[in-house]
Amino acid sequence: MGKDADWDEAPAELLRAGRDFVLADLDRDATPGWSAGKAGAEEAMAARGEELSDLQERLFAHGRTGGDRSVLLVLQGLDTAGKGGIVRHVLGMLDPQGVALASFGVPTETERKHHHLWRIRRALPPAGRIGVFDRSHYEQVLVVKVDGLEPAQENEGRYAELNRFDRQVINSGTTVIKVALMVSHEEQGARLRERLERPDKHWKYNPGDVDTRLKWNEFQDAYQEMFERTSTEAAPWYVVPADHKWYARIAVTELLYQALVGLDLSWPEADYDVEKEKGRLAATMADPAYQAHENEDTGGGKKSKKDNKKGKKGRKK
Ligand code: AMP
Ligand code: MG
Repeated sequence: MGKDADWDEAPAELLRAGRDFVLADLDRDATPGWSAGKAGAEEAMAARGEELSDLQERLFAHGRTGGDRSVLLVLQGLDTAGKGGIVRHVLGMLDPQGVALASFGVPTETERKHHHLWRIRRALPPAGRIGVFDRSHYEQVLVVKVDGLEPAQENEGRYAELNRFDRQVINSGTTVIKVALMVSHEEQGARLRERLERPDKHWKYNPGDVDTRLKWNEFQDAYQEMFERTSTEAAPWYVVPADHKWYARIAVTELLYQALVGLDLSWPEADYDVEKEKGRLAATMADPAYQAHENEDTGGGKKSKKDNKKGKKGRKK
């Protein structure tokens, strides 16, 4: 761990939902493992961002040179939990070329014609990328289950199917990080109210959000069962208290950082002779034929650097 990370204990250990995890006991206002406060978090986050960015570039280079590794960050959470903020503030620190973002809403007509994993498979990150799912295949045991959108008898097989799917994804070379952002009922209410009070946030509000909020307890139960049945050794859930946005962001940053460190990627070796290429490049720099061309005064468009400088000075006068 770099010296900038002031974690008292690694969030990967603290936040992982183990066998006996009880969601009802989670203090959503807590900041497990972090005692340096908000200001300390913002500072540490910027430093981690640079390290994360370097690791991402390694991953990208690895993908470009035949490597098969990728990372998938799955974000779940109820409305206002801060999924979008994670995308903006955590993934926003990275080169967009290396990030593959997919958001999953109510399935479209086309999507409904396919198996529910169809749209998920299509959005998996290619080698070298960090994929981010804003909601995911796990909605199958959250909104689909709570709203009874598909027959209940299918429920049983769903958890097994999700675990199997994660397994396949991992076997194909993807490190899966599943994050559930958990806000308190009170904080969700405050965030929804803010969306209604501020015209610049109206677009984020959906009247359906209150209908979902009315089913708060059902959703909490669904999350509890999801953690119990799909927090596996291979793809555990990290349950992040999300009443403090800054905490959720630095925690996810750290989870992502540690996952990338775990890939242990080195810079790919050149598949050409570096010394030979240096020589070839140097030769082009000293090439008199090229210089002659550059100095050539065609009397029209092309002029040498010298001439251009003169020209500019001349114009200034
Ligand atoms: P948002 O994340 O605010 O853009 O909202 C997306 C909406 O899509 C949420 O209300 C989700 O409950 C809903 N949604 C996501 N996945 C599914 C799914 N598989 N079936 C039904 N609704 C879904
Ligand atoms: Mg929403």
